[in-house]
Amino acid sequence: MTDLLTVEQHRERILAEVALLPAESVSLAGATGRTLAEPVLAAHDLPGFDNSSMDGFAVRFADVHGADAETPATLRVVADLPAGTADDPALAPGEAARIMTGAAVPADADAIVPFEDTAGGLADSLGTVQVLRAPIGVGAFIRRRGGDTLTGATVLSPGERLGPLALAAAAAAGVDTLSVHRRPRVAVVSTGSELVAPGTEPGRGQTPDSNATLLAALVGAADADIELVDRVGDDPAGIDAVLARATRADVVIFTGGVSAGAYEPVRLALSDRIAFEKVAMQPGKPQAFGVLDDGRLVFGLPGNPVSVAVSFEVFVRPALLALQGRTVIDRRFARLTASESWSTPPGRRQYLPAAIDLVEGTVRPATAGGSGSHLAASLARAEAFAVVPAEVSTVSVGDSLDVMLIP
Ligand code: AMP
Ligand code: MG
Repeated sequence: MTDLLTVEQHRERILAEVALLPAESVSLAGATGRTLAEPVLAAHDLPGFDNSSMDGFAVRFADVHGADAETPATLRVVADLPAGTADDPALAPGEAARIMTGAAVPADADAIVPFEDTAGGLADSLGTVQVLRAPIGVGAFIRRRGGDTLTGATVLSPGERLGPLALAAAAAAGVDTLSVHRRPRVAVVSTGSELVAPGTEPGRGQTPDSNATLLAALVGAADADIELVDRVGDDPAGIDAVLARATRADVVIFTGGVSAGAYEPVRLALSDRIAFEKVAMQPGKPQAFGVLDDGRLVFGLPGNPVSVAVSFEVFVRPALLALQGRTVIDRRFARLTASESWSTPPGRRQYLPAAIDLVEGTVRPATAGGSGSHLAASLARAEAFAVVPAEVSTVSVGDSLDVMLIP
């Protein structure tokens, strides 16, 4: 067993070869899923001015201090402040301004009385107002300038993925152009003379090519672009032909043809250019990886569909995210309790397609058929991969496991 690489050893060799893709400028609208190359700094204070968090009245706190239903405070309403107004009306003692949520608080006011704490609410709002309950103190219901972020403060950091919340934060901070890394371009190539296009009735000995569909979708979900999807038979010449068609790609992913059979086109075509390894994992033991002279990263994944799904998560996805400059390149894990028992291969770390219950905190095999790496249709039931350490040979009910979540 000593000739097996650990998962970490193989992964480190891969990540050591990743060169960050260049940065480019994009607008907010085109930035979803991109990775920040430079920090986003607030262009202005947010909020930009003290403003009301309630519909009501801007008052001088001293005028309403102690007001209650028995001893209301009566104020003259001298201004009306809708959201968006630039007005800053002067308020003398005994005066108030009607104010709507988000409107700038007059410089002379130091608290807001919401409509619900007055006698007439909105109805009596433009002549006089009777305050039936005093605000809790100076500053009540005022959102202070800079309370969210200050000019020049870091709102988003390099390496962050620009999802909806991050993009909204940039917009709120007054930034409309972002420096992001280029998306990786990926070629996906299935190998196998037995493969037919999905939807084609397979003859004896044939099987639908599901890996190409799987990988194209996984690549997109990793915020990378598909450059080419292709399928070649078990002929090494086909491997070089497809590499010649995929010159724009940053990454080429082959499936199948890397192990010990007689007709292994990826191994036969590329063994002088990339490394063929055995990794102590199940599924996914045969793995190939290397860098071509032109800088393209080449992955050779074993052909079984479950092996492809696992190998992508463990090796390819982290590389695709690292190429984009992503800080977090790993999936999230949960520590869950096994609700069924199963056996695992000795000496290899198992990644078992699993069903999970995050409320109960439990994990179980997704398929009754155990861990067969050919179970392409059953794979759809997996929500996670349960990771069983190499030294464990049986998972028992109640055992605690690290589980990789695949949303
Ligand atoms: P290989 O790694 O080429 O020996 O393939 C291992 C197993 O995976 C064989 O049973 C293949 O038929 C199957 N297989 C290989 N490529 C694909 C594919 N693209 N889609 C579905 N099954 C595949
Ligand atoms: Mg094959």
